[in-house]
Formats: sequence, C-alpha cells, structure tokens
Amino acid sequence: MYATTSTLVVGDDGTTLVVDPAVTAAEVAGLGAAVARRGWRPVAVWSTHGHWDHVLDGHGVRGLPRWRVGGSRADDATWSTARARERDDDAALAEALATYPQDAPADVVAVPPVPYPQIAGTDLLDWPGPEVAVVAHAAHAPDHGALVVVHAGVLVCGDMLSDREVPLLDLDAADPVGGYRAGLDALAAAVERFDVASVVAGHGSPGDRDELERRLDADRAYLDDLGVGRSDDPRLADPWVADAHAAQLAALRR
Ligand SMILES: [Zn+2]
Repeated sequence: MYATTSTLVVGDDGTTLVVDPAVTAAEVAGLGAAVARRGWRPVAVWSTHGHWDHVLDGHGVRGLPRWRVGGSRADDATWSTARARERDDDAALAEALATYPQDAPADVVAVPPVPYPQIAGTDLLDWPGPEVAVVAHAAHAPDHGALVVVHAGVLVCGDMLSDREVPLLDLDAADPVGGYRAGLDALAAAVERFDVASVVAGHGSPGDRDELERRLDADRAYLDDLGVGRSDDPRLADPWVADAHAAQLAALRR
C-alpha cells in the first residue's frame, strides 16, 4: 500500500548504511537477511524523518546506532511510545491489516534516533562509508533529512518527490505550504550542487534526472493547486492519496 522503499548505501568494503528499513516485520527481517547473505556490514540506520514507518526495527538492524536530523534524547522512552501510537492509530493501515493480517508492521525502535555524526563545518555524514551529504529541511515533517550519495549522484529523499503520493504537508507547521516549498527548494539546490543523476523516493519508484525534474515540477504544481482549491494531479487516482488531499484542503481552509 505504501510502496515503501528501503535503501542501502554500501561502500566497496561492504560498510553499509541502512536507510528507512520498512515496513512489515517480514520485510525488515528479509532486508537484514539479504544484507547478511552478501557479507555487507551495516554500521547504522538512517531515518529520513520521525514518522513511524521510518523508524522501524527488526532482525538484522536491531541494536545498530540510529541517526537522523534533529534526533531525540536516547533516553526518551516516550518518543518510541508516541511513534507506536501513530502506527496503531493509522486508519489506512488498520484497514489493510484486516485483509492482510500477515503483513503486521515491524516494531518501532525502542531507542529513538539521535542527531547524526557530522563532519565539523560541513553537511557531510561522519561515517566510514562513501561520502554522504545531508540535506535538512522541514517539508512533510520536522527535521527531514535527505541524503546525497555524492560519488553516485543519488538523492535518497525520504517522503518527497514520489510518483505515488502528492506532497503530504506537515499540518502542525506554522506555514505548511511555504515550508514544503522551502523543502523542495533545498532538494533542488542539492540536485544542482551535486549534479544528481537519480532519485530514490521513500514511497514509490526510483527515477532518473528527467524524472526527478518532472517530480519537482509536479510537486510545486500541486502546492499551487492547494491554493486554488482543486487539483487534477494524476496521483489523486489512488483513494488514500485522494483522502489525504481532501484532508489537506480542509485543514488549509480552517
Ligand atoms: Zn512520512
């Protein structure tokens, strides 16, 4: 349903960063098994943001350091409880599980992700793998952190630039639409700076540079549509995306 993407950033020596392991318990365990089979060595998990489906745990990733932009105190037990409650309150998920009970989601990690190790004076991740730049912004969720795998020219963008989902706003933000535009601008600037060649969205399909540009345009057009109050974005054909769109329109009118 979510068409979730889990990404592995793997160095020549097998050093691996696991990005957003998700979403069912079986999938997370399968990902861990695939990493082990290849002899890769995961050193940490990166969460692009703090929504429940990006902070999941399971065999193969359990116990690894957890990093993200912002981050929480490692001793903040209430953080994980709140994420688990979000998962359990997810109406679309509950509906899906009624039909597919075997697709139970993985556990939320017990220890929250902490601020990522950063090479001082840069936006680079301080880790033993390939060079990774962090693009921090506040679209969709506070403390959203996209990654650019520099040598490969790959943007791993979390819940942005999806071919399946229209921009889903952080409706608790002071300026949800303006904040989203700023996030897209930050990603677009990173695309230019690092000459990005492909995009990996947290939900949906990867795409090449042309597709990346098309999604930037489509997401900006959708934000314009929200101002007008109507949209013929083709991604709204998916019923749950249409519901999310209606909820956003209603919230912005209040
Ligand atoms: Zn999200």
